[in-house]
Amino acid sequence: MDSESFSLALRSPLSTAAGSIRRRDGFLVRVDRDGVIGLGESTPLPGWTESHEECEATLAATQDPESMLAETDETGRSRRPAARHGVELAVADAEARVAGKSLAAFLSDGAIAETVPVNATVGDGSVDATVEATCEAVDGGFSALKVKVGARDPDVDAARLRAVREAAGDGVELRADANGAWDVETATRMLDVAAELDFSYVEQPLDADDVEGHAELRGRGVGVALDESLATVGPARILASDAADVLVCKPMALGGPIRTLDVAYQASERGVDAVVTTTIDAVVARVGAVHVAAALPERLSCGLATGSMLADDLALDPAPVEGGRVRVPAGPGLAGDTFSALRERS
Ligand SMILES: [Mg+2]
Repeated sequence: MDSESFSLALRSPLSTAAGSIRRRDGFLVRVDRDGVIGLGESTPLPGWTESHEECEATLAATQDPESMLAETDETGRSRRPAARHGVELAVADAEARVAGKSLAAFLSDGAIAETVPVNATVGDGSVDATVEATCEAVDGGFSALKVKVGARDPDVDAARLRAVREAAGDGVELRADANGAWDVETATRMLDVAAELDFSYVEQPLDADDVEGHAELRGRGVGVALDESLATVGPARILASDAADVLVCKPMALGGPIRTLDVAYQASERGVDAVVTTTIDAVVARVGAVHVAAALPERLSCGLATGSMLADDLALDPAPVEGGRVRVPAGPGLAGDTFSALRERS
């Protein structure tokens, strides 16, 4: 196994809970399976995964991919999810290539999707900017939009949500993402607005640690989706507490594609849906996430249209977004021969 660092600039700075970021720094991971090279990616994101330094040290210390993948901490989760993701993806890619299957077909026991619907993200701008972004997304063929809320006064956000529904029309699926910004009173009010406007769900209305609060917000006519909570309290407690209608699953934060599918299957058994999203990863992890989405038990729009946030990338994207959908590469592995240059050790 070996790993190689990379650093990619974002087109514009991204504000996260852990501060503003301008670049995505990560590692390409390669494993050798009897001469077949599997490719993975570890791109840590503070707040969601271990730090860059911890990720680098973990990859450098990993001699044997299998024993690294077998390690879990006391909660059954990985303390180094980004490093683990890179290794798990690389091993799965190699094994899928050996089996002559696409990664999605290799990961799934059931039918896989040929294309995956993806949502567009509408930022937290003014009402006018929100309407403009909505029209642009709908014109671009997106049938699901996620609107960022929580940064502005709740009355302004309510006006923004109304404007989005009006501009998008009735046929478009709408979601809102508050990133944990609201207290219970505001969240209750805003969920009622979202329900009235026929939004399908509101993501992370309350603080990530407030599992019980989210459980109480359910059943108001709009779904409650949890995202940040998966990285802090973990999927097991969320499911045991009936705290969500939808889990937002980030393979990089959950520790790998197989881990992510396991979470999605556990959710599905309890009637909870899963959507797959990236952590603004480079192309190898994004394509990995596309395969995970194609292997999901449900077919909800996923948050995979994030490649355009990078100013440059590791390779040409073999799964670009077209008309609000991504075609799943046929394989073998991640994308056939598309990444052959990346498989060669530099
Ligand atoms: Mg979110």
